[in-house]
Amino acid sequence: MATPTHGGRAKCLQRLVRLELPVPRTVALSFDMVHTIASGGMPDTQALVDTFCDGALLCVRPSSEDPDWGGPGAILNIGMNHDRLADLTKTLGPDAASELYLRFVQSFAIHVARLDPDMFEEIEATGADGLAEALRAYEDEAEEPFPQDPAVQLAEVLRSMARAWEGTTARLLRQAKGAPMDAGLGLVVQEMALGLGQGECGSGVLQLVNSETGLPQVTGRYLSQSQGREALQQGNESLYLVRDPRGPSLEEAEPEIFATLKKNAELMRRRLREEMQIEFTLVGGQVHILDGVRVQRTPRAAVRIAVRLAEEGIIARQEAVMRIEPRAISELLHRQIAPDAPRDVIGSGIAASPGAATGRIVFSAAEAQASHARNEPCILVRRETSPEDIRGMHAAAGVLTERGGMTSHAAVIGRGLGTPCVVGAARMKLNLKRKTISAGSGKVFREGDIITLDGTNGQILAGAPQTVEAALDDAFQVLMTWADDERDISIRANADTPADAATARNFAAQGIGLCRTEHMFFEADRITPMREMIFADTAEDRQAALAILLPMQRADFSELFRIMEGLPVVIRLFDPPLHEFLPSDRAGLRDLAEALDLPVSDVTRRVDALGEYNPMLGLRGVRLGITLPEIYDMQARAIFEATLDTSEEGEPVVPEIMLPLVSAKREVELVRSRIDAVAAAVRAERGEEFTYRLGVMVETPRACLRAGDIVPHSQFLSFGTNDLTQMTYGLSRDDAGRFMSDYVQQGVFREDPFHMLDVEGVGELIAIGAERARLVQQDVTLSICGEHGGNPASIAFCRAVGMDYVSCSPFRVPVARLAAAQLAITDKIS
Ligand code: PEP
Ligand code: MG
Repeated sequence: MATPTHGGRAKCLQRLVRLELPVPRTVALSFDMVHTIASGGMPDTQALVDTFCDGALLCVRPSSEDPDWGGPGAILNIGMNHDRLADLTKTLGPDAASELYLRFVQSFAIHVARLDPDMFEEIEATGADGLAEALRAYEDEAEEPFPQDPAVQLAEVLRSMARAWEGTTARLLRQAKGAPMDAGLGLVVQEMALGLGQGECGSGVLQLVNSETGLPQVTGRYLSQSQGREALQQGNESLYLVRDPRGPSLEEAEPEIFATLKKNAELMRRRLREEMQIEFTLVGGQVHILDGVRVQRTPRAAVRIAVRLAEEGIIARQEAVMRIEPRAISELLHRQIAPDAPRDVIGSGIAASPGAATGRIVFSAAEAQASHARNEPCILVRRETSPEDIRGMHAAAGVLTERGGMTSHAAVIGRGLGTPCVVGAARMKLNLKRKTISAGSGKVFREGDIITLDGTNGQILAGAPQTVEAALDDAFQVLMTWADDERDISIRANADTPADAATARNFAAQGIGLCRTEHMFFEADRITPMREMIFADTAEDRQAALAILLPMQRADFSELFRIMEGLPVVIRLFDPPLHEFLPSDRAGLRDLAEALDLPVSDVTRRVDALGEYNPMLGLRGVRLGITLPEIYDMQARAIFEATLDTSEEGEPVVPEIMLPLVSAKREVELVRSRIDAVAAAVRAERGEEFTYRLGVMVETPRACLRAGDIVPHSQFLSFGTNDLTQMTYGLSRDDAGRFMSDYVQQGVFREDPFHMLDVEGVGELIAIGAERARLVQQDVTLSICGEHGGNPASIAFCRAVGMDYVSCSPFRVPVARLAAAQLAITDKIS
């Protein structure tokens, strides 16, 4: 009688029986038996009935492997017939006895005989009259009298429940929840302990923790017999499903019974090694435990419960770590829509940055800032975002874009800021002139209307559903420390700004694995010198612009080194897809013309000249370092000067400099020799020593294939899976959002490959790259720094190919820490 042969409920009841808890007599039917019943076989139900006390009423409940997979509802009071009515009338009185029978007739008619539920609608009478009408209605509709033989009733119930489980709809529903095709159903036949009779009688549920917080608190509901009758007369489904919070406190009324229940629940918690809710009845003050189910819990409560069970020695720490879904951790880090809040869904897109955000719609960064200044939360809605929007993104509670995918500007920045973000909501039509967005349903939303983004599942909702706050409590911290004790792969963060770095430290990242230096220039007061540098026509002009950027960069790097004190920091040299830095509208062109003191027409011409047909494959990354080497020279100098400045204050800093978008060994050689020269110059000028590490981002397919060539010039290789995915598939990271859902829906891709690493294709390239690099240089440090770094399945792949660390957005660091720990534990125990 153990899972998976009889299902979770059967297994739990068996354990309760072994604990000698007062469980009514129970017989469990196995998956095989239920399957046989569905196919037309039937056990000897008379023999089954005979195993129970003479005249007992029975109930049948489903027992699948996982209660979340659903299943047919329980059927109660089997065995109720004219004879039992007469018996129970003597003990319970005519009204209660008739009501019990009436409820059974109704549930049998609807759920077992599958008669039309409307047939009972017109019955207004209660008690004996109501019952007589119901029996008549049954006979009319079924063209036979209501079955009186308990064995026949039981057979019908078993058959209908078994068949319901095997129906196509039920199968598809449970498969959607992760059940295998051949998931079985067990059935539990149990003698009913009616909470009716003399003395204290009633029914209820009790648990020892609060389901919201996971903190110890005895909660539950109890319905005494008199309230139960009232509830029955009000037409509630069944006595045992009535959950009425109006009930008196059982603790006050019956302290001894309450103490017994609590003791039973405590025993169950300890021996079943889980917080359980007990379902009980009281008959004449006698406790009967009908069932025990795992307490429902929020992610926050789940963490608290696991930690408390481990702290009390009930489960091992490893098990506590294994019990928490990494995704649930992400929910703890962000405000979420309350699980039971009604959702008025008006559209959906790609869930690019988790958490819930509610605010008034604004359509420009300037409006977002103005709204923020008025203390009015807003949702910034853009076709797509660019560096000019960064201030607005900081000011907005959430960001919604019509275009873009998991690695588009809005998505990357949103995750970095921890701002909820939905991108690629292509079916939401944006009209920037009219300042409206139209939902697929045709409903139009205007500037100022309130909407909510659910960045955890990509939904866009009208109005302001209730939300629950982020909860990083002590239990979370404890669980994370336990996870870190198990982990065998390091976790770093992608952090571009001091704020990102502080978040990364706070989440115990073991360093920065990617600082995208061009992101340091997204702020309004910095984008102009950056543009001036990009715009410079002559070496002189470029030098002048670089001279402005140098002190800014030096200060940035010093701050990052200080915040990350003692931890490694990988600084990636500029990789600006140029189009992200060019003004795209008239106002932007005018601003730049003012800054450069040039006519707008000159600026427009230069913007056109710099324009590329395919900027993501254009003058980006190391190509910039080859063609305009002064730019990387400036960055190297800023890094080295900051290294010396910060090393004077504390531990020596060893910066890690990374070259983006490399595809050939010669690129690395050329840039390396210039950086070495800058290092030598700074050493000579300052008369001080320092070391640095140079690494390469492996994000073109060629770099993977030629990793053996490239690695002698690099101390570390970091796989940039965003670009590598883009180039392996030939799939634009900015445009794929438009058709990605069609591709996933039609099964072309199992998942968005920008979200879940494509282990088969992109993964093979990474494995080749890792292998070829290690063959030449065994001690090279290998890592991944694309957005996949925070995805549990992708981390499994990175571990398997022997990477030293993964680097992901700061807010994903805890998820990555937990996922990595679970992988290590799984390996240890298997
Ligand atoms: C990458 O391509 O995977 C990466 C991390 O770099 P970026 O997203 O900045 O191109
Ligand atoms: Mg890249």
